Amino acid sequence: MLITFFGVRGSFPVPDKNMLRFGGNTSSVLFEKNVNGKKVYLFIDSGFGIIQAGKYILPSFFNGTASKEFSILFTHLHPDHTEGFTFFAPNFITGIKIHLLGPSALKKNVGKVLKEKMAPPTYPIEYKDLKSERFHGIVEDEQKIYITSEGKPVYSAGNNKIVFEIKVMKSFAPSHPQQGCLYYRITDVETKKSAACIWDIESRRGGDQRVIAFSKDADIMIHDTQYTDEEYDSDKMIVQGFGHSTYTMAVENALKANVKMLVGFHYNPAHTDQKLIEISGEINKKLQENGSPLIFHLSAERSSIEAENEIIIKDRES
Ligand SMILES: [Zn+2]
Ligand SMILES: [Zn+2]
Repeated sequence: MLITFFGVRGSFPVPDKNMLRFGGNTSSVLFEKNVNGKKVYLFIDSGFGIIQAGKYILPSFFNGTASKEFSILFTHLHPDHTEGFTFFAPNFITGIKIHLLGPSALKKNVGKVLKEKMAPPTYPIEYKDLKSERFHGIVEDEQKIYITSEGKPVYSAGNNKIVFEIKVMKSFAPSHPQQGCLYYRITDVETKKSAACIWDIESRRGGDQRVIAFSKDADIMIHDTQYTDEEYDSDKMIVQGFGHSTYTMAVENALKANVKMLVGFHYNPAHTDQKLIEISGEINKKLQENGSPLIFHLSAERSSIEAENEIIIKDRES
């Protein structure tokens, strides 16, 4: 599978010249897998990053190299995870089928929440007027979801050819919706490589036992890294309880879960490229000094991680 980051920023977008290296768009990650010459897509979250993802995948629908049916799994419905959906190009193409799966919010599915959001006078286009065909589903704790070779989500494998197997963990992080935030572990059924998506979580010092068990032995862990220790412990601007983790918390979870690669994600909108490079350098230095095989990698907009037989980092071309 190929994992491409289209939005890696937390909370709100930051168009800033000091953040061009890692990018300023909010959360959206694309998992894709080529099955007999046709790509199967699976998105996690539709923050502003999904807008550029839309442009990236659009040609594949027109030249027949991708399934026109795919899913977006939502971790939760905060704006930095949903706001790009309105401007997502596949929504304006007839024949595209999108499955929107996520938490229930006040007994509403993702579709009902988006429908209420996308309505005049605050939105120019109504949800019902989008050209894509949309299907809605509610995801629960410990659920399993399978993505078929046609890109369709099913809840038991049955006789379908399965491309991705997804495990779900639901947790009730501080400052995240009362209905909880969802974390997904996605496994490429062919290669057995897996990636755990752990963001919008306020982990615990020393490690979060549920996250550790959920991510055990994963090849890749993409983890919320919103704060430095100094920011998290500051008495000036109090961020404890905001529902986000520190880099140290992410490293502790990754080490205890025995993952091979930890990927920083959901960056603080105040952290410049230089700051992120400094933080990453310190983490990798410490890991090396301790003889740990864990690699810490910074996700960057339009960069990918190829997880086939080997795990290869692919930087963006421009
Ligand atoms: Zn967020
Ligand atoms: Zn959030």
